Amino acid sequence: MDDTFLTHLRCPIDPTRSTPLVRRDHELQCTQCLVAFPIKQGLPILVPGEAHYPTGIRDLTQLPCRRKTNRSAGSFRK
Ligand SMILES: [Zn+2]
Repeated sequence: MDDTFLTHLRCPIDPTRSTPLVRRDHELQCTQCLVAFPIKQGLPILVPGEAHYPTGIRDLTQLPCRRKTNRSAGSFRK
């Protein structure tokens, strides 16, 4: 895969789309929340349901990418 393409990808869990991903073997890992997304047949699967979560994470709301947004966008959900 062309790695310059990967530099444009951002963590799909981060609604501000500001967190870059890094390639690790057959996965793309978020540099902040450490969620790893599989790469299948050369294409990264940036779907939370397909991702591998860090140990101890059971809910998306526990992830730093998601928490960051809750803090900065107070009017997001009322
Ligand atoms: Zn993330």
